[in-house]
Amino acid sequence: MGKKIYIAYTGGTIGMRHHREGYEPAPGYLQELMRQMPELANPEMPGYAIQEYTPLIDSSDMHPRNWMAIARDIAANYDRYDGFVILHGTDTMAYTASALPFMLRGLGKPVILTGGQIPLCEVRNDSRENLITAMLIAARYRMPEVALFFGNKLLRGNRAVKVSADGFAAFDSPNLPPLGRAGLGIHIDWDLILPITGNGGLNLIEVTSAPVGVLRLFPGISADIVANLLAPPIRGVVLETYGVGNGPSSDGDLLEAIRAASRRGVLIVNCTQCLQGRVRMGAYATGAALEKAGVISGFDLTTEAALAKMICLFSRNLSQERIIDLMQTPLAGEMTLPTAG
Ligand code: ASP
Repeated sequence: MGKKIYIAYTGGTIGMRHHREGYEPAPGYLQELMRQMPELANPEMPGYAIQEYTPLIDSSDMHPRNWMAIARDIAANYDRYDGFVILHGTDTMAYTASALPFMLRGLGKPVILTGGQIPLCEVRNDSRENLITAMLIAARYRMPEVALFFGNKLLRGNRAVKVSADGFAAFDSPNLPPLGRAGLGIHIDWDLILPITGNGGLNLIEVTSAPVGVLRLFPGISADIVANLLAPPIRGVVLETYGVGNGPSSDGDLLEAIRAASRRGVLIVNCTQCLQGRVRMGAYATGAALEKAGVISGFDLTTEAALAKMICLFSRNLSQERIIDLMQTPLAGEMTLPTAG
């Protein structure tokens, strides 16, 4: 029996065409282009069904309710296909790729997000290569991963960040080597692939939007600004700190704003502004001050993954202690805890 994959087409540059105002997705257009691609009729390619979303969106318009629509779509078609490809705009692809692993619990098949920096309709484009290889990976490899394939690299979704606005190598996962690479052949690093857990059934976690935010520290940031952002109704904040998790320790008002919010139950998660490396709040007095004020470590989480994880945890009916505990526990390969010693 040939392999069959399901393609969820949400929008993004890959299927866009020129419009007066710039590139825009157009209903039916991507399928028309795909029908004209001889490669897709090659016997090496899997069979596919494609579901075009309405409306097709630029991923800058993504919202957690769109993540939910994608997750529900995968769950509804889960038993009938060997793998899934999600065609998505690049701008917020890392956020969707970060959220889905927390929503698709017990996943046993690949879900591969891809798109392009130049649409399929252009003579020179990266979309063609990304699409074909993502389809092959989704069909061939039985891996319980939500991954992002782009620019010849297969990255774990909840480790990925967009690193280039215009290059073909637009994504990277600075704290985890690629799960695979496409060169002369497709090579998967099986040592990095998550183990298959559960009984093979997919458990869909419902997610709704939550009042969360990101606060990036910078020299001179005022206590007032911090206090305002941490004021109700906020429930969770990713605090983007310096280096290994440091922040200004000599501004008592700023630390007090953080302490007060944390006491009110605001979840404040420390993620570094550095692309690579992890938070170690005990390393400097400036980091220890944040920890004392109630900030918890995000270890090597990306901001995208920290935000998505918070939103997903807030959507479940969990106690504050449980949320704090789960926030610091790897649930889907999104973080690496420090080893003892
Ligand atoms: N603005 C586009 C989007 O994210 C960019 C892209 O797809 O590359 O939908």
